[in-house]
Amino acid sequence: MPSVKYHKGDMVMGRWPGSNLYYEVKVLGFEVKSQLYTVIYKDGTELELKEQDMKNSHDFHPRSRSRSRSPGRRRSRSRSPARTTRRSSSRTAAAVAAAAITESESLSSRKDSKLKEMVEVRLTPMHPSKMAVENNSNNKHEKKENNTSNKVNESKAKTEPEPERNQSRYNLRRRKAEADSKPQQPDDTKVFSAPAVTVSTPLDFGGKLGAYFWLLFLPSWVLFVILQVNLQDPSLVNFPPPVPTLEDLWDSRAFGFVILWILFQVLLYILPVGKLSEGMPLRSGERLKYRTNGFFAIVMSATVVVAAVHLGIDLTYIHSHFLQLAVATFLISVLLSIYLYIRSRYAPPDQQALGGSSGNVIYDFFKGHELNPRIKNFDLKFFCEMRPGLIGWCLINFAFALAEKKQQELDYPSHAMILVNVFQLLYVVDGLWNEEAILTTMDLMHDGFGFMLAFGDLVWVPFTYTLQAYYLVSHPNALSLPAVAAIVLLKLVGYYIFRKSNSEKNAFRRNPSDPKLAYLKTIPTATGKSLLVSGWWGVVRHPNYLGDLIMALAWSLPCGFSHLLPWYYMIYFIILLVHRDSRDMSDCRRKYGSAWDEYCRTVRYRIIPRVY
Ligand code: NDP
Repeated sequence: MPSVKYHKGDMVMGRWPGSNLYYEVKVLGFEVKSQLYTVIYKDGTELELKEQDMKNSHDFHPRSRSRSRSPGRRRSRSRSPARTTRRSSSRTAAAVAAAAITESESLSSRKDSKLKEMVEVRLTPMHPSKMAVENNSNNKHEKKENNTSNKVNESKAKTEPEPERNQSRYNLRRRKAEADSKPQQPDDTKVFSAPAVTVSTPLDFGGKLGAYFWLLFLPSWVLFVILQVNLQDPSLVNFPPPVPTLEDLWDSRAFGFVILWILFQVLLYILPVGKLSEGMPLRSGERLKYRTNGFFAIVMSATVVVAAVHLGIDLTYIHSHFLQLAVATFLISVLLSIYLYIRSRYAPPDQQALGGSSGNVIYDFFKGHELNPRIKNFDLKFFCEMRPGLIGWCLINFAFALAEKKQQELDYPSHAMILVNVFQLLYVVDGLWNEEAILTTMDLMHDGFGFMLAFGDLVWVPFTYTLQAYYLVSHPNALSLPAVAAIVLLKLVGYYIFRKSNSEKNAFRRNPSDPKLAYLKTIPTATGKSLLVSGWWGVVRHPNYLGDLIMALAWSLPCGFSHLLPWYYMIYFIILLVHRDSRDMSDCRRKYGSAWDEYCRTVRYRIIPRVY
């Protein structure tokens, strides 16, 4: 068994990343492979430290007096870890760490080595008025991290062997960075003899039982809404809809069409057309490359579809065989999820998703165990997120417009159908045009690829987001021109908020030193990243969700108020985004500790200003 100096539960002093400051930390685990300790600071930030960045509390000698004029020395007069100086009390740990970077640089230049073991600062919640918000133009903290960590990581990941990578001064990976798949061990000794950190991750979606529930509920719900919307009167009092026969559910041709569609999208994806974009740094420091040619893919798809219609292919088949197409796609998503789960068992620890590594087969199958499953350079998650389902959504909507024309004997699709088609097409085209932005979203950065995303991308999106258009085929809703104008205005407002806020965060995450973002205020965090506290992200914590919800409202309004079913998307989306917001809040709290608390104190509302 390898000998380790500190054990789980020990209270020791840990160096704050990027600084010479030491704080009291609790040891949570040790990973033999990387030789890193997982520790938690008093403010809740969890990081991994090397042994040389940790000290026994009793070996730690705070300086009793110092006449030095350096700020660091002045702070050292605070003797007890619980006591604080005036200066430290008004700053967060993150802010102190940021300041410490500057301090340590100047100190080291003065070769004042003695100072290195002397500084204590209490992690004190900061008063909002004294918050250490920086103007982004002065954001040396993140610039430094970016310039160093990204470049260093990028080059080191490629050139250095694994052990050498661990020689860097601090490890800024989040805790549980590796080997989350191992269940937590009750015995401390076992933890240290195990090859990896074994701290369990909080489970989402109702945990293990929840995973069983969602696995059954989600496909049943899709089946239900498709059957229900087919009814002449799809009101909920007509529940349950008639039970479908096997023939209603299965059609080999439909299965063939779905396969053809997916292969066509694969072909467009792998064509060497369009930009190769870099994803955000992974825990290993590596940055994956993605072919972001989604706009090209939708233009090509539209061309082929229009040509097919021109050649006399009847796309209303999609309307008349909607259920069979959905069942065929569901089958494909299940097969894909099984494949993903099997291959994830062999994924190296640093490619496992933090959230889908509970050790429970069903939960991990549902949540996704591998973060970025790839076949050579073909990224399965990115492809499924952005291509067959998303572009398929527009194809289905278009087919419904043709079906409405046929069924209602119209010369043109109705105003309501045009609005729904155009709005949703704009949403998809925008997503594909700004495809690079998805690389900084939760799905791509944090969620593993399992049933939840495979089913969501391939089945849920194209077969439930099209419900409004499906509904309009047999439930016409006349709209006056003022109503059309008001709905268009609402959509534009929502779109503006959605696009601006997403682009702002994406631009900031990609290049925090971007001069165009210099006016924004930020809070530094211990991970090296900063948080925006002004601009869109200073209005609410998820301005992008607000814009998305306003757009969702504009999608449902054209269907009128006769039935609840076309409002399903709006209701579902509120639930989804509220839950997603709370998931993100917990993740960010774990990542950023007290800096996140400060952000939440400054930006008090989550999605709707002054309401929620
Ligand atoms: P976000 O794009 O909002 O990403 C959240 C991440 O942003 C956080 O984890 C954090 O990551 C970073 N972040 C949070 N606050 C700040 C801040 N103040 N400053 C800088 N970075 C911050 O989340 P989603 O992936 O959920 O959403 C992306 C878009 O997709 C949204 O517009 C959403 O509405 C839409 N969406 C649409 C769905 C649909 O079905 N139509 C489904 C889901 C989402 P870090 O700090 O690690 O960078």
